[in-house]
Amino acid sequence: MPSFNSRSVLITGGAGFIGSHLAEALLAKNYHVTVIDDLSTGRFENIAPLTDHPNFRFAIDTITNEVVMDRLVSECDMIFHLAAAVGVMLIVEQPVHTIQTNIAGTEVVYKTALRYKTKVLVASTSEVYGKGNQIPFSEDDDVVLGPTSRSRWSYAVSKMVDEFLGLAYYREKGLPVVVFRLFNTVGPRQTGRYGMVIPRFVQQALDGEKITVYGDGNQTRCFLHVRDAVRAIIALSESSEADGRVFNIGDTQEISILNLARKVIQMTSPEEDKYQDPDERIQFIPYDQAYAEGFEDMHRRVPDVSRIYETVGWESDCQLENILNDVIFDIKQTSGGKIAVPVR
Ligand code: UDP
Repeated sequence: MPSFNSRSVLITGGAGFIGSHLAEALLAKNYHVTVIDDLSTGRFENIAPLTDHPNFRFAIDTITNEVVMDRLVSECDMIFHLAAAVGVMLIVEQPVHTIQTNIAGTEVVYKTALRYKTKVLVASTSEVYGKGNQIPFSEDDDVVLGPTSRSRWSYAVSKMVDEFLGLAYYREKGLPVVVFRLFNTVGPRQTGRYGMVIPRFVQQALDGEKITVYGDGNQTRCFLHVRDAVRAIIALSESSEADGRVFNIGDTQEISILNLARKVIQMTSPEEDKYQDPDERIQFIPYDQAYAEGFEDMHRRVPDVSRIYETVGWESDCQLENILNDVIFDIKQTSGGKIAVPVR
């Protein structure tokens, strides 16, 4: 049994897409890493290669198990809290699960952290900017959300409660808490099962299916490589100047979803197909059909990243082409190289 007395961290949701990359990066920096994950959306395969590492251990459990959390928090000196219900598809389909997981789980994390005065880094989301149209979004902007009858917004609100509570623990009880808002983070191991656009488009393209663009495709996003996101999270964890504050983590290069679809088609097409019109392989699907009646999307979403740059000197590094290359490579590997002929 390894010693967990120095530079030991706990990652909640560490078998998820971002958590598993974070675990890997922290092990490479000689931290002792404990992951707690209930494998609801996280996958054991994500951390399977780490299980032989002498400084790694894994608890399959939910963060609402207060006894287990008490023990794990007592043995670490920092918590990265990433366990949450995520993915627009999941949120729209299971709003009760989303609200309960995100609020009750985070309460346990703060309460337990306070007992041991352990620093907490809390993952939040660009969803909290909602329908704001003052681009770019900066951390202290006003928030504009839709009505409670649209379940999409429950995710933003549940994460805002996590943020409020974390900042309250910092101000009122002196607990070091850092909130980071991730903007469209993508990369290897992300699954399209809960709606995320890039793995979905790449999988569809490689399976020879039509690419499903929701709405008119003019909505834009900025995509961040998970490697850059992990670098940002670690930089914040190592800076006491970050305590008690909220930070955007994102890339600032904007692309429309329609152009993203075209790019994915071009990058996955065999040489002889490269000169075909990519639009023939795109299928537009109204939002109501893709998600639920009355679904509201954000038209644009761009982060202002000056605060994190000024505080820890972080900026993103990886271009969209490199992100897509990595995702294409990863999905080809996991589908065992079985690539179908495109549908026309
Ligand atoms: N999207 C799409 N087709 C898909 C999945 C998503 O057009 O198969 C769109 C979605 O409506 C949104 C954007 O891609 O406008 C990004 O979606 P994602 O769920 O990845 O992240 P979001 O920014 O909505 O949190």
